[in-house]
Amino acid sequence: MVKHVLRASLVSSLSVAFMAGCTVTKSVNNAQQVAPTNTPKNIIMVVADGMGPAYTTAYRNYVDNAATPEIESVVFDDILLGNASTYPAKVSGYVTDSAAAATALAAGVKSYNGAIGVDVDKKPVNSVMHYAKTKGMRTGLAVTSQIVHATPASYIAHNESRKNYNEIADDFFDIRVNGEPVADVMLGGGTVYFKREDRSLLSQFVNEGYEYVDSYEGLSSIPAGSDVIGLFAPVALPAVLDDNRKDRLAYLTKHAIKHLENDKGYFLLVEASQIDWAGHANDVGSAMAEMHDLAQTMEYLREYVDTHPDTLVVLTADHSTGGLAIGAGGDYRWSPEYLHNMSASARTIAATMVDEDMPGEYAAKQLGLSLTSEELAMLDSVSNQDEETRYAAVKTFLDIKTNTGWTTTGHTGVDVEVFAFGAGATSFSGQIDNTDIAKTIFTLLDSSALNK
Ligand SMILES: [Zn+2]
Repeated sequence: MVKHVLRASLVSSLSVAFMAGCTVTKSVNNAQQVAPTNTPKNIIMVVADGMGPAYTTAYRNYVDNAATPEIESVVFDDILLGNASTYPAKVSGYVTDSAAAATALAAGVKSYNGAIGVDVDKKPVNSVMHYAKTKGMRTGLAVTSQIVHATPASYIAHNESRKNYNEIADDFFDIRVNGEPVADVMLGGGTVYFKREDRSLLSQFVNEGYEYVDSYEGLSSIPAGSDVIGLFAPVALPAVLDDNRKDRLAYLTKHAIKHLENDKGYFLLVEASQIDWAGHANDVGSAMAEMHDLAQTMEYLREYVDTHPDTLVVLTADHSTGGLAIGAGGDYRWSPEYLHNMSASARTIAATMVDEDMPGEYAAKQLGLSLTSEELAMLDSVSNQDEETRYAAVKTFLDIKTNTGWTTTGHTGVDVEVFAFGAGATSFSGQIDNTDIAKTIFTLLDSSALNK
């Protein structure tokens, strides 16, 4: 039942996006004419920030059709190839942050936690995106964080610290490959870093021929093949539960592809940035909603590769976040159905309940739950606390309802899954290291160029 609801919403959201001007058409004939090859023309790297193995299992349970005895497989099950280790350079121990992991995934180099596209000696290391651009391919990124956040930053910038957002933004314009900025298409959040008092990078991009857009609707009207900087929020995009597009990552990905497709091929980085943030917050409602945003994106990419078998898609995580546990406190129960009808994120519910005459009733309605009078009284009782206390109370409430556990508000050092499909996908199977992913992409970019 739930699965059908989720699937139906996926279909309708994809239809909307197709009507909004996406150029992808599904054609059996097209698929038969283009022979599969082991050397990809196009490479799409998808990073699910914070998505340890517990997240993919939890997501399968979350969309399970409870009316059937089996637990149905999800898109991740169909494309799984292996595992990657994630540890950073020795100086940072066994547990990586997103910057060191992104530098490993982007450039194939282990570095220290906090490093953006630099090695342990703080020397710049070039990414597969730089390399693709030197090969004459088009390049882009589509993310749900600010575009200068650690993962996208490591594909473009070089900085000793992930926190230097303004310097990283400068690199997005100043670092040149073949005389052009590293990325032709940039979609995500982060206006404040590109429209500053000391420098308007946005004007510089526009003067250089980039289309600038600040709304999802505006994005759909830009002609295919444009250079685009699309910044849809001052910093990060809203949590998907609070966004007016429930398929925001699939939508951005489709539009990035529309502007990148060309005869010489393209490299696209996609990041589901906020799975990690839900993990840090120990917010299971947002964790599953952000996973669904990613799953819709992967469903779309599978359809895309069906008609474009010369395209490689690789998906992995940079690390796991929160120590998410499916079941907690010695109780062998997990009840994700309590997360199915949330109409806003726990953070937003906690922020807005304070203005309500009946905060408990209001929170219950937003959570999509019918609650006992004791539960309503508990939510009423937190409504006069400060916002962080209210947020913690709503999250704890969801944890108790679902019986979800967490061990940390940071990252854990567990291996992550590696998924791939399309041309050259088998190169990513087995137990590998996160640096192997970049190394293999460098090799594929070389053999791809030889074929042109
Ligand atoms: Zn993180």
